[in-house]
This record gives sequence, structure tokens and C-alpha cells, in this order.
Amino acid sequence: MARIPIIAGNWKMNKNCKESIAFIKAIAHKVPEATHVETIICAPAVNLCGMVKEQGSHLRIGAQNLHWEANGAFTGEIAPSMLTDIGVAYVVIGHSERREMFGETDETVNKKTHAAHANGLIPIVCCGESLAERENGTTNDVVDAQIVKGLAGLSTDQAKATVIAYEPIWAIGTGKVATDEQANETIGYIRSVVAREHGQDVADAIRIQYGGSVKPETVAGLMAQPEIDGALVGGASLDVDSFLGLLNF
Ligand code: 13P
Repeated sequence: MARIPIIAGNWKMNKNCKESIAFIKAIAHKVPEATHVETIICAPAVNLCGMVKEQGSHLRIGAQNLHWEANGAFTGEIAPSMLTDIGVAYVVIGHSERREMFGETDETVNKKTHAAHANGLIPIVCCGESLAERENGTTNDVVDAQIVKGLAGLSTDQAKATVIAYEPIWAIGTGKVATDEQANETIGYIRSVVAREHGQDVADAIRIQYGGSVKPETVAGLMAQPEIDGALVGGASLDVDSFLGLLNF
């Protein structure tokens, strides 16, 4: 079965509640049918509840993080069931910014991925190499280890439903987009890792996005590549026209 492409905006720490609602209202009726392309916006946690109420038929809302425990003394954290309770459907896990600045590891990524599935959330698990790793030829080793550890222990159905985002760190927010061929090649390698670890059926079903300086002008070339199933987009997802442009690849 063909994999349905999945375009997700990652707003990072941008837009307050009012701005996020205005954005959703401006796009909700222009979002393509979810059977054609899945459209998601991953927003700051305080905005999620209001955004879900305005999401319409085809847009879905995602969080940018969660904690793996159900509740307890974890000041500042958000439990998976708090997200599903308000209708959040997706959650970004292991973004390189969280790995670099907030102590996220492959082990916490794995715990969070399990917690997401256990609560009916679809995890978007991020991986990607630094510039030094790309230059010293270890890209495949880096993403291999991140995917093996991040997805360890998932059932076949959970692994199939997981979304992976390949985001080379050197391409994030730099304007330096990986070439279509570079992105396709590494994503093909990631798919082979999934096949090795979880079986060919899972590898054929799992959606793998590219992320890193994707723009409306560059999305079509990436999406035309056979291994690339979508995009996780930061900067270009913050403007209404630009976001809608990403959806019409
Ligand atoms: P930019 O699209 O701004 O490069 O960000 C990519 C990203 O990190 C999405 O998660």
C-alpha cells in the first residue's frame, strides 16, 4: 500500500495562543484531504488545547515533547494522557535541539516513543547527523544507532505507525538544505535499518520525513524522491502562505 505523505510544521518556541488560533483559522479550510496528505502542526504546549478546537476536518495538532510517566512529581513536564485528553494526535520526540540543549538521549527517546504509542499518540521520532559527522563519513552509523535505540522494543504495529524525521543538524535553520539525492540516500539507509530491525513489512509501511530548511520552493523536489514520505518544517511553517505552499507540493 502506498505511504500517505505527511507534512508537519514544527513551530518550535514560536507563536502565542492568539497567534496560533489566528493561523489555524486562516488555514483550516485550505488543508488538503488527509487521505491525500496528512497535515500536522506541532506547537508550544500552552497553545495545543485551543488549536485542536479549531483544527477542522483535515489538520491535526502535535506536541513537541512529552514525559514517559503517567503522572507524578516531574515539575514542568507533560504526561501523554494530558495530550490525548485535549485531542492532540502526534508528538515530536528527540528533536536535535532537545538532544543538544535539554539532555535528550536515545534512551529517553525510546521511553517517550513507547509512552506515546501506549497512549495512542503517533510519535515523530527525529534523527540526524552533525556537520562533523557528515564530513567524516559517519552519517549512516549515527542514524543507524539513533533508530535502533529509539525504536527498540516496539511491536510491529507500533513500528509501522511511527513516523521518523531525518533532520541533518547542519541543515536546520541554516538555509543549507540537503540535496534531494542526499536526503533520499540517507532516508533509504534508515529504511534499511528499519527492515533489519523490524522486518520488511514495517520498512515498507513506515513514513520517513526529511527536515532541514525545507521551503515551498524546495519541497516538490524532495517529495519526488522515492524514499521521502514528507517533511518536518520549522521556519517555513510559521507563515500562512508559506505553510499552504508546503502542502501543495
Ligand atoms: P527549519 O525548517 O527551520 O530548518 O527547521 C527544521 C526543523 O528543525 C524541523 O523540526
